[in-house]
Amino acid sequence: MHINSKLYRVLIGLVIGLFSVKSHAVLNVFACEPEWKALIEILGKERVDVVSATNAFQDPHYIEARPSLIVKLRRADFLICTGADLEIGWLPLLLKKSGNQKVLATQPGHFMASDFVKRLEIPHRHDRSDGDVHAAGNPHVHLDPQRLLLVATELKNRLIQVEPEHERFYENNYRAFKTRWLSNMDRWKQQAEPLLGKEFIVYHRNWSYLFDWLSLKELADLEPKPGVPPNSRYLTALLSKTDSTQAKGILVSNYQNPKAAHWLSERTALPVITLPFTVGANDDVQTLEGLFDAIIDQLLINGEK
Ligand SMILES: [Zn+2]
Repeated sequence: MHINSKLYRVLIGLVIGLFSVKSHAVLNVFACEPEWKALIEILGKERVDVVSATNAFQDPHYIEARPSLIVKLRRADFLICTGADLEIGWLPLLLKKSGNQKVLATQPGHFMASDFVKRLEIPHRHDRSDGDVHAAGNPHVHLDPQRLLLVATELKNRLIQVEPEHERFYENNYRAFKTRWLSNMDRWKQQAEPLLGKEFIVYHRNWSYLFDWLSLKELADLEPKPGVPPNSRYLTALLSKTDSTQAKGILVSNYQNPKAAHWLSERTALPVITLPFTVGANDDVQTLEGLFDAIIDQLLINGEK
């Protein structure tokens, strides 16, 4: 009896030990872009350990499938990316080389944000030969806070599917985020009211979802087609056929070469407005909230004139 109760205590201790190890183990997350790293950290807090494959100064369309990224993906329990072919040039190769079954497309550990929102600019004709990098529609969905909230909802559900034992934890974090985010959205909409209907020239269709949300207008694009770099012939034609007097500025993001924007700026007197495209673009943009604050501030500086 004495031995049995001792054995019983040892067994109980082992079971508790196992559970405590499990509850401390974190979910290793591989995020393709900083905005998804930021979002999953809001929902997963201390339960997630996240690496981002790219930073704010890299063009997520064109990343090299480096061995260091393969190693990081191999360790991952969960993959979160934009999808809609944004990462088509590098993610399929990383997935293949990593050999990680947990994050394959058929698994709950594979989460593509743009799968859960209505995408804009889906072409009628799928043809990459002429350089269109948006063959599956515009993938840059994170710049509409409404769509971002939809993604957050689906991401929370997915995290609960992967870790049902932590349902309450993910639900609570999500609810706190949602409350904060909805009030931010009201504030941003109010702040951006003077921008309503204002026109901008863009460099790549990075801002379509932001424009959709704030009712801004894209007057022209410095790229002849999404993903095709600006060239002097196209820019000259754009200059002659575009009445830029109504535009408020030319938008570029941190990771882009602003040369073409400056070329047009010198000939139109339109300001070049450098906007952060994602989290980490500068010291003020370390969160998703900070990202939208900074974008709206920058637009207002020029757009209210
Ligand atoms: Zn793009």
